[in-house]
Amino acid sequence: MVHYPDTPDGQVAYQAQVLAWKTTNPHKYKGGDEYAPYPLTPGTLPVGVGECHTCGLRHPMGTPHLRTIVDTFETNYRRIAGHIIRTSRNEAPAPKPANVQYVAAAPEYLAYLSHYDEEQGNGDGPAV
Ligand SMILES: [Zn+2]
Repeated sequence: MVHYPDTPDGQVAYQAQVLAWKTTNPHKYKGGDEYAPYPLTPGTLPVGVGECHTCGLRHPMGTPHLRTIVDTFETNYRRIAGHIIRTSRNEAPAPKPANVQYVAAAPEYLAYLSHYDEEQGNGDGPAV
């Protein structure tokens, strides 16, 4: 995926990229992901460099964005790509379990699940 420079030609090429992406991925209504990298707005940073997912530039959290915000498809792609890049960094050299695996294995969660099962179909619950 080419990341075009912030020039008139780059903007035209970027608009064509977005159109092509949306034509190729009609069912990805949230935006780009690891299977369908979304075109990056000209003049923004590449993904996974600690950039703000909303404006595509680097600035301290809570401070104003440094440019107009990117479209939500790109924000979602930056979020997913940044997460994958951070996770793969964390996994080398000592892999850590993902949070979801930790939660699923926690005794509190299993207790919650069994409690939830007990409430199903016993007829004593509040009328629906
Ligand atoms: Zn920002």
